[in-house]
Amino acid sequence: MLVYDLDLPVLSELLKSWGEPAYRAKQIWQGLYQQFYNSPSQFTNLPKSLREKMANELDFACIEPAHDLDSSDGQTRKTLFKLRDGYVIETVLMRYDKRRTLCISSQAGCAMGCVFCATGQMGFKRHLSSGEIVAQVMYYARALHEQKQTVTNVVLMGMGEPFHNYENTMAAIDRLNDADGYNFGARRFTISTVGLVPAIKRFADEKRQVNLAISLHAAHDDLRLNMMPINKKYNIEEVLETCRYYVAQTGRRITFEWALINGVNDTPEEARKLAGRLKGLLCHVNAIPLNPTKGYEGRATTHERGIKFKEALEQAGIPCTIRMRRGIDIAAGCGQLAGSF
Ligand code: SAH
Ligand code: SF4
Repeated sequence: MLVYDLDLPVLSELLKSWGEPAYRAKQIWQGLYQQFYNSPSQFTNLPKSLREKMANELDFACIEPAHDLDSSDGQTRKTLFKLRDGYVIETVLMRYDKRRTLCISSQAGCAMGCVFCATGQMGFKRHLSSGEIVAQVMYYARALHEQKQTVTNVVLMGMGEPFHNYENTMAAIDRLNDADGYNFGARRFTISTVGLVPAIKRFADEKRQVNLAISLHAAHDDLRLNMMPINKKYNIEEVLETCRYYVAQTGRRITFEWALINGVNDTPEEARKLAGRLKGLLCHVNAIPLNPTKGYEGRATTHERGIKFKEALEQAGIPCTIRMRRGIDIAAGCGQLAGSF
């Protein structure tokens, strides 16, 4: 049993079944999520017999760091974790201004097959459990705590499609959000999705405070279909229709992600087409130069072309930011380290 898979009511039931008093569950919960303990021996406020029971019954190390990589500017660190069954996932910490943003994985591999994505190129292995998602955050929360720092933002932009693993992803967010535990505000999470329409609808109906980002990358179906097989199931209009529903339900702004690929989707014409489609929607576009991958011949946009794309969008009334390349020297792009193992 993975200790991070348990939410407080389940942990309480378990402790009860062990014949422990009710307050023990809370003590363990606080040890895990407020003291960042990751081994039963650290729970010195508990009786030795209980610590032994915990060591025998609960798995505290469901993800094991196998490899760390630091970018040359020291602002980005990527950790490759080995799961119990041998699959690997990755987590990236990005320091930027006063933020420490953690990019976490929701699956080992991914079933969506986007051609430009290293994770997509490796195929689907399995869903992560909620605890395996939680454990990535706690690993870095602990590491930063030792430097008297905290995680400020968590983005589900590592390996996998979070809306394909909806239940476990939301359970992880809820667990990290618990006010008696880690207490990480819902607004500080961002979920990025390839555009799974029924899940976006569900997410809208749940009216969560979590931020939503949609990977669009193209403004017409022919092009998007070439890049993202999911477009066959849910085309651009269906995705945007659901986005309008989301904004109506929540009043929250949507982010559209756009990997700028030289000569493919980085022209001013494509920007104007995009602006036309996004007109009237509460949104902004987050563009990032493509991270080149082994399995895809596309190249990153140039600085000049990127700026022109942004200007064309903004002239048409759509706010756009171009993200700097972070950690490119450590292959911090989606799935690019695990893919090489
Ligand atoms: N599966 C989700 C979240 C993980 S991918 C999704 O697709 O949205 C996180 C972001 O990285 C997505 O916007 C994705 O399109 C983008 N991405 C994937 N491979 C990339 C690459 N090689 N260069 C730039 N962005 C990439
Ligand atoms: Fe999966 Fe996202 Fe990569 Fe597409 S971009 S293959 S959805 S991880």
